[in-house]
Amino acid sequence: MSWLTNYVRPKIRALVSKSDVPDNLWAKCGNCGQMIFHRDLAANDKVCPYCDHHMRLTADERLKMIFDGGSYESLALPETVQDPLRFRDQQRYSERLKKARSATGLDDAIQLAFGEIGGQSAVVAAFDFRFMGGSMGVAVGEGFVTGARAAVERKAAFIGIPASGGARMQEGILSLMQMPRTVIAVEMVKEAGLPYIVVLTDPTTGGVTASFAMLGDVTLAEPGAVIGFAGSRVIEETIRETLPDGFQRAEYLHEHGMVDMVVPRKELRAALCRLLDLLMVPQAPSTVLETGAQVAQEAADEAPVAKEAAPEQAESGEATESERAAE
Ligand SMILES: [Zn+2]
Repeated sequence: MSWLTNYVRPKIRALVSKSDVPDNLWAKCGNCGQMIFHRDLAANDKVCPYCDHHMRLTADERLKMIFDGGSYESLALPETVQDPLRFRDQQRYSERLKKARSATGLDDAIQLAFGEIGGQSAVVAAFDFRFMGGSMGVAVGEGFVTGARAAVERKAAFIGIPASGGARMQEGILSLMQMPRTVIAVEMVKEAGLPYIVVLTDPTTGGVTASFAMLGDVTLAEPGAVIGFAGSRVIEETIRETLPDGFQRAEYLHEHGMVDMVVPRKELRAALCRLLDLLMVPQAPSTVLETGAQVAQEAADEAPVAKEAAPEQAESGEATESERAAE
């Protein structure tokens, strides 16, 4: 007996633990459980080749995927107040922030980028779920507003890509204040006559759903993404009814008119290119940065004649090209 417990059992345990798959080679699909080579997964844009499950992307992976040539200019997040409530639960909020920063290399849960998508200027505000569940506090709210301002200043489209559990609890009321702030930021983009597109990814919930995420001129969603306000378990317990299959999934929301298109990741870039091509009014590239208010005012003044002005600008563009050719 002692031989069995002391010698054989540890040997078996060691064998079993050796057969454990090293994390650096394989990833396990969260949906079908299949083991997939990291390399194959990356080549497939982090979509399971067996069941088409769309895994979460980092903000960086997302941005590389949608900009022309995978290149973009990162826009810095503005400095904001850190840990305004000196909040503490099991650990200090300031500690949580520090850990999230070192784990992700990000300042906060949002990343801003400017570049071209299908040749059209665009500012993208992409969330990173790894950073405290993509939660929206002051820094994220301020980041989103900064992104909207940059879009107006650069006469670019604005694209929001949430992946968020909602408001950041550790910032209390201040995180809730980011809901109206982001709504106003979206209005600013719309008043400047620029398109605002939302790509809902897994998950988009809580205060993010209840603010800028549902205000897109066009709302896209990734297949299978969870999109909702309160969690389905909470709803079930409240109304004491079983919820239908696929409740709060992108496809369900599409069927019920909350989402315009469910776009597989492989087709997302093409879809954005097409949309921007349709929605952006042709205009000469802006070189001088103006303040948001000025641009908004000018855009409002010029809006009725923008279409008439477009052909002239196109002509002047051709002229410069022919001049260049002459040289
Ligand atoms: Zn799978």
